[in-house]
Amino acid sequence: MNDFAVASVASGDADPADIGYMQRALGWAKKGEAADGASPIGCVIVLDGKIVGEGYNETEMRHDPTAHAEIVSIRRACESLGQDELRGATLYTTLQPCGMCSMASIWAKIGRIVYGAGREDVHEMYFEERDRSTVDYILDAYKDDITLLGGVLADECAPFYVGPDEVVPIQDQVNR
Ligand SMILES: [Zn+2]
Repeated sequence: MNDFAVASVASGDADPADIGYMQRALGWAKKGEAADGASPIGCVIVLDGKIVGEGYNETEMRHDPTAHAEIVSIRRACESLGQDELRGATLYTTLQPCGMCSMASIWAKIGRIVYGAGREDVHEMYFEERDRSTVDYILDAYKDDITLLGGVLADECAPFYVGPDEVVPIQDQVNR
């Protein structure tokens, strides 16, 4: 685990506002679990105390490998605001974001990411790491632009995902 820009809190031991928005993101994860072609990763984007975009992972539904919950929510937020940046916004997601979504957040000028379950809480297939960690690289390179807080309601988020020690056949792994 890096410590460039990542802080973490014990599950549930976070700012009440962060907990409230994470509960809403968990609601999206539940909807994603129930929806055909979606998956249980929920995201909520908040700007100036208002929810401006939210959603769940729609990659299978849309036949779009980039339709992660965070990307779906960034698109909705920008559409709803009629602008192409979200400066000062906080992005809440039930699972630590991948490299693509971390980078998209930087392009969107999102200043803060708050996530629930972290890499250590879930199966490695959720992350695109090979010999190097994309997320660690991004967080180091852009440490002045973005901060991450992990572990918010991690105990409630983690059960939506395959656990770190579960055996998953290689052809069923989402990143292979
Ligand atoms: Zn992603």
